[in-house]
Amino acid sequence: MGKLAVLGLDGLSWPFLNGMVETGKMPYLRAVSANALRATLRALPPVTFPSWTSIMTGVNPGKHGIFGFFRYSKGAYGQLLYTSLDLRHPRIHEMAALMGVKGVVFNPIPDYPIRPVRNVEIVSNLFFAPKPMSYPPEAHVKYFGASNLPQAKAAGCDVVEYFRDVMELYLAAVEKASSNADLLWANLNFPDAALHRCPKMLRQPDAPFLPILDKIIEIMDSKFESFMLLSDHGFSEYRYAISVNDILVKGGIARPSKRKHFRELGEGRSVGIGISPRLYKFLRAIGAVRVFRLAVKAYSHLIGRPIRVFTKAWIDVEASEAFMPDKSSFGLYVNGGSDAIQRVCRVLSAYEDAIFVRPAEEVYWGKYVRLGPDIVVFPRFNRGFTLLSAEVRGIPVLPGRHYDHHPDGVLLVRTGRLKGIIDVLPNFAAASIAMYLLGIPLPKSRDTPRDVERSMFWDFKEAMYPIFPLLQ
Ligand SMILES: [Zn+2]
Repeated sequence: MGKLAVLGLDGLSWPFLNGMVETGKMPYLRAVSANALRATLRALPPVTFPSWTSIMTGVNPGKHGIFGFFRYSKGAYGQLLYTSLDLRHPRIHEMAALMGVKGVVFNPIPDYPIRPVRNVEIVSNLFFAPKPMSYPPEAHVKYFGASNLPQAKAAGCDVVEYFRDVMELYLAAVEKASSNADLLWANLNFPDAALHRCPKMLRQPDAPFLPILDKIIEIMDSKFESFMLLSDHGFSEYRYAISVNDILVKGGIARPSKRKHFRELGEGRSVGIGISPRLYKFLRAIGAVRVFRLAVKAYSHLIGRPIRVFTKAWIDVEASEAFMPDKSSFGLYVNGGSDAIQRVCRVLSAYEDAIFVRPAEEVYWGKYVRLGPDIVVFPRFNRGFTLLSAEVRGIPVLPGRHYDHHPDGVLLVRTGRLKGIIDVLPNFAAASIAMYLLGIPLPKSRDTPRDVERSMFWDFKEAMYPIFPLLQ
């Protein structure tokens, strides 16, 4: 059996990784990346929940059941954060445990509630768990001591202070875990949580704590036979944001409402000021829009954060044929059957230069496709488009500087066990590679194309892994 350490860095892109190396503060990462196998790990949708879940399960959302941040019960459309109870496929540490692999996992996604597994110590303290928790219960103190991690409350670029604490605690935890685990997997919320709050880091990937992160990488690489550094998506700057719900309203598919049906949790930390359409009309009528804009600009300068001003309304869920409930869903829910789905796709196709639109079953596959959105919408990321949140603003395309996720993440593998690696791999291929490096059978249900595997692996076994009784 092999020994493997995996470091997951949320939102890390190759340009950001290269930028960190160029600061000169990460000599170990520089050496490791020069000698490792490298690939782009592509995530569609590029969202923390479904992407980490694909990375850890080896399957697409149609098989693992997690499509965005929120689960929607069709018909009622109540919004619930996905949890590990929504998982329809076991993750790598759950499968490895069955093979007797001793594991330590920090922040498996979904991270809450923790699903106890024998042979594995699990800690969730950095992503969505309401408070730090672990299995067994004493594991949190064992690895992180008595003090709890601080919350990432700091807005703007002060968030750097928070990450210094995170990195120091994780350095100690990784050091302890590396002595007694066959599989050590740690997911950290850096750089994603920093980039949402402090987008200027995108151009200057520098921070005082980078040497600590370098030390974490050094321990994980040097104490294990194989090492993987990977991310759930990249991060980029965009020139346009597309409001899918505005396109639907214009096309007569959706109706705006003043009632607030969904609170978009989102991850953006720019300050948003929503003003009512009536106030906007009034300002325009008295010619005060320019003065208002200047005042907002001055205030933005004062607080050092971008401010977006928009008039907004919400979608009337009952009266709409289709709507996007939140932007992390990367999709639309349709009230109606396949005729309605085709009709909505046709309306959206007027914007095909900016968005990719397909019925969900053409994008996802597996038993649980119906649990997700009915239509998948991806902005044309590489043409400079991203999605706007779900409010209706009267503007289908909003130019400006937008900072958001990008599908292209990072995969770096340091091992002697692989033949090679393909330049661009789907995110679920990461689980195949990790299980191969651990020397355990790959699940028959996995989605990595077999010809891709044949070009990377010498030989391997396959197995059917039972799913938990609770998952059925
Ligand atoms: Zn994010």
